[in-house]
This record gives sequence, C-alpha cells and structure tokens, in this order.
Amino acid sequence: MSRERAFLEQERVDVTYRPVEERIRDFQAVDLPLTDAEIQLQASRCMECGTPFCHAAASGCPLANVIPELNTYVYRGHWKEALDLLLSTNCFPEFTGRVCPALCEGACVLGLIRQPVNICKIELAIVEQGFQRGYLKAHVPSSRRRERVAVVGSGPAGLATAHVLNRAGFNVTVYEKDAKPGGILRYGIPDFKLEKWVVDQRVELMTQEGVVFECGVDVGEDVSYRFLRDRYDAVVLAAGAGVARDLAVPGRDLDGIHFAMEFLRRQNRLVGGERADPEQPPTAAGKNVVVIGGGDTGSDCIGTAWRQGARQVTQLEILPEPPATRSDSTPWPQWPLIRRDSSSHKEGGTRLWSVDTTSFSGSQGHVREIHCARVEWIADKTGGRPFPRKVSDSDFALEADLVLIAMGFVGPGGTGLAERLGIAKDERGFVARDADRSTNIEGVFAAGDMHRGASLVVHAIADGTRTAQKVTRYLNEKGATRYV
Ligand SMILES: Cc1cc2nc3c(=O)[nH]c(=O)nc-3n(C[C@H](O)[C@H](O)[C@H](O)COP(=O)(O)OP(=O)(O)OC[C@H]3O[C@@H](n4cnc5c(N)ncnc54)[C@H](O)[C@@H]3O)c2cc1C
Ligand code: SF4
Repeated sequence: MSRERAFLEQERVDVTYRPVEERIRDFQAVDLPLTDAEIQLQASRCMECGTPFCHAAASGCPLANVIPELNTYVYRGHWKEALDLLLSTNCFPEFTGRVCPALCEGACVLGLIRQPVNICKIELAIVEQGFQRGYLKAHVPSSRRRERVAVVGSGPAGLATAHVLNRAGFNVTVYEKDAKPGGILRYGIPDFKLEKWVVDQRVELMTQEGVVFECGVDVGEDVSYRFLRDRYDAVVLAAGAGVARDLAVPGRDLDGIHFAMEFLRRQNRLVGGERADPEQPPTAAGKNVVVIGGGDTGSDCIGTAWRQGARQVTQLEILPEPPATRSDSTPWPQWPLIRRDSSSHKEGGTRLWSVDTTSFSGSQGHVREIHCARVEWIADKTGGRPFPRKVSDSDFALEADLVLIAMGFVGPGGTGLAERLGIAKDERGFVARDADRSTNIEGVFAAGDMHRGASLVVHAIADGTRTAQKVTRYLNEKGATRYV
C-alpha cells in the first residue's frame, strides 16, 4: 500500500518551469524537476484502486503501465523494482515521462474528487533514477536467430519495434532517411521539451544491444523494396504521417508561408549541430508570426518563435475554446477536452479561438497580412459532427511576416513509399493493415503514425511494441525457429 489516506492530506505538486526571461534565451529543457523526496510524496497519493482505470489501456495508459504498483515501489524507495516493472510495459519511459500528455491522469480515480496523481513525472523519476544509478544497461540477447528484419523509419514506433525484435534475438536494421535517428522526437519536438541527448542515449543503448542504424537512407529512393525483400525476412514500415494538411486559400503561394514541420525541423537541426537546409523557412527574428493550428505542433512553433526573437506571436484555432474543467462531453474516465496551456503558451502571445483563415495578402511576393473571420459551430441535426459557419461582418486582418501552418497531417510519410511498394491504404489515406498488423504484402507490416495517422509518442511506442510481437509470431510460424 502507498501511505494510507495520503491522498486526503497531500496535494498534487507539479513541476515548475525556469523563468520565462531566462528560458526564451536558450533551447534547453524548461522543466525544473521535482526532487526524489517530492516524487515519493506524490506517489504516496495513489489510492491503489481495486480497478485502476489509469492502468487499463482502454481508459488510461496505452502501454498499460502498472501504475498503482509503480507508485507503491516509489513511495517506499524501491527504485530498482519500480524500474523493472516500468520497463516490462514501456521500453522508452524517458520519452513518455517528458512528452506524454498523461492519458492515465485523465482516468485517475483520485481525479474525480481532487487533482489526479502526478503519474507522468513519477514515471520520469523512475527511469532517470535507473540511468543515474546505472541500472539501465545494454542487454545483448544471449542467442541470435537467423532471421533479419528491416524497420523503415526511426521515430518512436520504429525504435520500439526494433527494440523488441532485437531483444527477441532477431537481426534488426533500422533505415532512416534523416541524418540521425529519432523521427519527430529529434526533428519535430524542440529541445525545450525533449533535449536530444535523451534520444542519443537510447540510440546508443540500442546500438550496443545490436540494432543497426542505417541513417541517410531514403527507402524507395536510395534502396528499393526489392533490395529489402531479398535481404530481410520481414519489413516493418514506420515512416510516420509526413503529409501536412494544407490551406487552400488565396495568397497561399506568397513567400513567408510555411508548414510548421519545416520551421521546427530547421531549428532542431541547428540546435543538434546540423546545417539548416537552404530551402527551409527563415527564422522568426523580428517578425510578426501567425501560427495556424492549436495543437502540440502549433505550440512548439510558438516556443521556437519566441526563442528566435519573434516580435509578436498569434495562434489561430478554428475550434471553439475548450472549457477550463472537464465537461459532460468527456466524462471521467475519458481523456478530458479542456483548455491546455503549454510552457510555450505561458511565454506570451495571443491565442484566438473559433477563427478561420480566409486569405493572405502581401507585397513584393511576400506575405504581410492574414485575413480571418470568426466562426460559430453549428450542431448537425442529422447527428453528424458540428460544422463551422462564418459569423457575418466578423472579418479582420492581422499583420503577418511569417505564417506557420500546423493543421495536422493527412497522409503517410515516406514520400510515395507506400505507392512504390503497392501498399494498400485505408479510407483516410493511411497505410492499411490487418489484425496481425500486416499490410496487403506478405511479410510487410506497418506501425505507428503511418497506419494510425498523426497521434502521440505513447501510441507510437505501444503500436511498435505490439507490431514487433506480431512480426515475431509471423516469423515463428513461417519456419521453425532458426538460431545461429
Ligand atoms: C511538432 C510535433 C510535436 C509533437 N509533440 C508531441 C508531444 O509533445 N507528445 C506526444 O506524445 N506526441 C507529440 N507529437 C506526435 C508524435 O511525435 C508522433 O505521434 C510520433 O512521433 C509518431 O511516431 P512514428 O514513429 O510513427 O513516426 P515519426 O516520429 O514521424 O517517425 C517516422 C520516421 O520515418 C522516417 N522515414 C520516412 N520515410 C522514410 C523512408 N522512405 N526511408 C527511411 N526513413 C523514412 C522519417 O524520417 C522519420 O524519422 C508531436 C508531433 C509533432 C509533429
Ligand atoms: S506513458 Fe503516458 S499514459 Fe502511460 S503512464 Fe506514462 S504518462 Fe501515463
């Protein structure tokens, strides 16, 4: 048991951030972590419910982390036991502990009457203790199988797939078109949320364990599917959801209007010591920046723009402003639709809700203004989704020298990879797969955002893990287990 009745006495304490004036001068992590003693007190708040909704993948953690038991171990200071238990369900808690929105906390029973247990930061403390105390070491499989598996893409889904298959003894090679592994962990999410030494540390461990990373290889371009088929017993496609949703309004072709990922990628490359691509967007220094889209990607653009020295930053969202607290539309234990203010939002700027972009205008070929209108959301009488309707005489314009489109993703990454391989897609345009995670081509599997559509790191890790289990079964069934 955690400390009896602690949940009645102990309030939730959240991480704090470095002061805004200090943190917007660099790209380092913004969090000021809780001390171990504070984390243990937070863990003591767990009620150890008979039915822990936080732990169930259907309502809480997609990885089914065994949260109540983890909390008990931490409260009692049994960090090693906590780490072993955590790693039994989550291969990369150092990523989720930093960037997971904590779906588990939305399903915490304590959240019904008080603030939920601070599960995400307890998870981070466990794995950081593991690294600091030297518990996390490379585990090289004691025996190797003959079969070889190629994983295309090194985002969290590809990394998780490779990790699980390698630990099972397969010979795994990860092909990555970028210069370094990590996918969005490295080139999308800024260092102020996830410093890249965290990704490097994991890649180094996996390399020591025997996973081979072939970076700078664009599968479909630099190597063909035939090349993979001839050399590998199975191929897992984990190329992400790289096709960004565009905004087809007049003036879209003006200079200064870019996709958010181009902007974030450029800055992440610079912070990581790589050169910026010449064709990538310029910095936000001295500019009036408008970010279109209110999700994680948009929020990361805001924090990056401030650090580059933006004059002003405005974020537009077409959806209405969510309520401050859980509403009836997302009852417990569902993930609550509430307004979330990230560390970047707390750094300044303006957020506008229920606003649609109607056009851009500019001078000398460069954007200068973004034209908008307010919308109201109308309930669909036939039971479909609500739809936006323009509010009459609500047009307005904002100064804009740099516009960043962060409106989500509409198709799989891999620049035509699926088409080149003849892989079937589903009705949403993402890679289709069956219950065994196989695509329409035998021996070719799909994992992560490439199948699921743009999602979360925790979903990518869970999906990669389960896909690896299906690949193992496929290879086991295909032939008798072949050990070297
Ligand atoms: C800016 C941004 C911020 C985000 N912030 C968060 C957050 O804070 N928390 C959270 O939980 N989620 C966040 N997400 C979502 C999360 O990052 C993704 O859901 C997750 O990374 C998907 O993992 P994946 O492995 O499927 O794909 P990706 O991470 O996209 O990785 C796919 C990889 O495949 C490679 N690839 C593509 N084509 C080829 C090819 N032909 N050959 C070789 N390699 C190829 C790509 O270069 C890439 O490295 C964010 C997303 C974005 C865009
Ligand atoms: S991975 Fe995310 S949902 Fe799962 S326990 Fe950690 S913070 Fe919660």
